[in-house]
Amino acid sequence: MQIKTILNRVQKFKSFVYGKESWIENAAIPTLEIEIKPRLNSRPVCSYCGCKRPGYDSLPERRFEFIPMWGNKVFFVYSPRRVDCPRCGIHVELMPWVEGKRQLTEAYAWHLAGWAKRLSWKEVAEAFHTSWDHVFCSVDRAVAWGREHQDLSGIEAIGVDEIAWKRGHRYLTLVYQIDEHNKRLLWIGEKRTTRTLLKFFRWFGKERSHSLKYVCSDMWKPYLKVIAKKAGNALNILDRFHIVAHLNKAIDEVRAEEARELKEQGYEPILTKTRWLLLKHKKNLTALQDTKLAELLQYNLRSIRSYLLKEEFQFFWQYSYAAWAGKFLDNWCTKTMRSKIKPMKRVARMLHRHRPLLMNWFKAKKQFSSGIVEGFNTKAKLTTRKAYGFRTYHAAEIALYHALGALPVPETAHKFF
Ligand SMILES: [Zn+2]
Repeated sequence: MQIKTILNRVQKFKSFVYGKESWIENAAIPTLEIEIKPRLNSRPVCSYCGCKRPGYDSLPERRFEFIPMWGNKVFFVYSPRRVDCPRCGIHVELMPWVEGKRQLTEAYAWHLAGWAKRLSWKEVAEAFHTSWDHVFCSVDRAVAWGREHQDLSGIEAIGVDEIAWKRGHRYLTLVYQIDEHNKRLLWIGEKRTTRTLLKFFRWFGKERSHSLKYVCSDMWKPYLKVIAKKAGNALNILDRFHIVAHLNKAIDEVRAEEARELKEQGYEPILTKTRWLLLKHKKNLTALQDTKLAELLQYNLRSIRSYLLKEEFQFFWQYSYAAWAGKFLDNWCTKTMRSKIKPMKRVARMLHRHRPLLMNWFKAKKQFSSGIVEGFNTKAKLTTRKAYGFRTYHAAEIALYHALGALPVPETAHKFF
């Protein structure tokens, strides 16, 4: 069987045929070149208007990289014709295997982008003997195509989240669709300001924003302000995951300070290596950690009291009746305010201030658990961390859309990945 036969099976062009195949001698990686020729008597197509036009002349040969085969690089070789289009002028013809002036064929670009969902970009580049830039460009194109062709109808619930990015306090705002039937990353913006989220709503459009029923978010003021203004019909639910994060942060502060004090006063270092005991969910502790926690609970330490307050707060979510949950919340806040533990008091004040929003969770009939946004948050962090090459915001943005956007791909791309 000839390679032509295989190629015609995977990618057949109407007005072009595959010609001679030849090996490039002395190439560092074995390289195969396959000639492409216009079908006899076929006229070139103008790349601007898409009409068949008379040919004008032929340009020198160009090479287009196709999907490597069995460790061999594969190139198409073709001399593009120029068309003399009465409407658009003299232009290079349309070549169905490539877009514009690119070097990678569409098939190869989709192939690389497909693998880049499973491996890091660096690994993809190594596996296919190509450059990081080629992988990046392929993913970039796949994301651009996908975002242009994605369906944004019927979105009722979104979640707003932020992740720290790079070193220092630099943030990205991420907006997810969290509807039961469709969960995906919709939008990314730099920073976490009022302007950032306003940009999302501008992109999302007035009509779609008005049909939103639920918005999950943290208690971050700029977000709350914009959500109230732009998604007036939606119920703003405070994300359970973020509330636990605030409590954990407070406990962490209390523990660090207390451990330092105990050390200064010459006590046994009972709080060393207890960080995870106090932050992890109880059911995720190992048997040994569980025993150590039980031991710790005997001490009347601020860290322990904070931990118990956090554990107690979990009951809030379990109430069936909003009124009782509200009562519980008020009691919890009063108790915590009396605890004299500053970081915990800060959380209590914050929760008290956002009481109506907290109660919205019950109005939404507990529909949006913390799991969705939390799961996305973990994946987003992993994606940005895995991507060592992300020097620019654009690269991080592209990687996140590619990994979490559930973006569509053209029908033909499925064939190559
Ligand atoms: Zn034209």
